[in-house]
Order: sequence, then C-alpha cells, then structure tokens
Amino acid sequence: MSRTTAKTRNLVQLSLLIALEAVMAFTPLGFIMIPPISITILHIPVIIGAILMGPTYGGILGGAFGVLAMIKATFFAASPADILFSPFHSGAPVQSLVMCVVPRILLGVFAALLYRADRKKCVLCGGYYLPKSNRAKYCPDCSIRMKRAKATERKRKQRQNCHALGLKKP
Ligand SMILES: [Zn+2]
Repeated sequence: MSRTTAKTRNLVQLSLLIALEAVMAFTPLGFIMIPPISITILHIPVIIGAILMGPTYGGILGGAFGVLAMIKATFFAASPADILFSPFHSGAPVQSLVMCVVPRILLGVFAALLYRADRKKCVLCGGYYLPKSNRAKYCPDCSIRMKRAKATERKRKQRQNCHALGLKKP
C-alpha cells in the first residue's frame, strides 16, 4: 500500500471512529449500566484507533473523546460529578478543560506506543507486526505477497525458457 492510500485510509478510519465515539457518547450504547453506576466504554474506540493508526491519530481520537465528554457534561449532565468536567459549570474552566482532554489524549498516545513497543515496522506497507524472528522484514501479509510475487516471477522465467524451445506460452 502506498503512503497516500494509507493516509486516506487513516483519515476514513479516524472519522468513522470519531462518529462511533459520538454515537456512543450520546446514546446508552457507550455505557455499561451496573446500577447504581455506569461504566463508560468510550475508551475502546480510542484504543482501537491508536493500535490501528499510531500515536498521532490515537491522540487526535483521545482529544475528540475529551471534547465529546465535555459537551456531554455541559448539556447532558447525568450526575453531580459531571459538573466538574464542564468548563461552563465548574467555575474553573481551564482545569475542567485540562481534566477532560489531556488524560484522553495521553490514553490514545500511550495505547499506541505500548502496542508498538515490541513490534516491528514492515518495510513494505509500514504496518506494525509481532516479528517471529529478527531477520523478518515484512509483516505476515506482505511476506505472503512477496513470496507469491517471487514464485510468479520464477514461473514466468520458466515459461520463457519453454518458449525459447519452440513451445507455446500457456
Ligand atoms: Zn507489510
């Protein structure tokens, strides 16, 4: 995959994940209710995005999550604790902003870095994978493709040899 296609794919994935975050934030979908508490699962799209696209996009997604949480705390406050997270109601806007956004950006960045810590970058597609040996240069997908390409090349040469002997190309 070329760099531009990878970038386009990342942007599409990013917008899809932000849309998913928004849906999850404003519907009960993003929360597991175990009365009397509800646990948010809004971290999951951030972590998925971080793993798929790396620290930069993970950070952006985390930031989007923070902004959504802020909007929710401001306009759809469900508990007194929510007020703390709203820069408009808490009386300490800067602190609320930092509290909402910064930990979530860090979540995205660190999830990506942690995921990549023991992985290698594929020289062909730039994707990250768990190397089976130190010599491996390609991710499993690319190494299969490379093997196939090499086999095709070998066969092509064989056929050319047949052709030279007066046989028709298959
Ligand atoms: Zn690859």
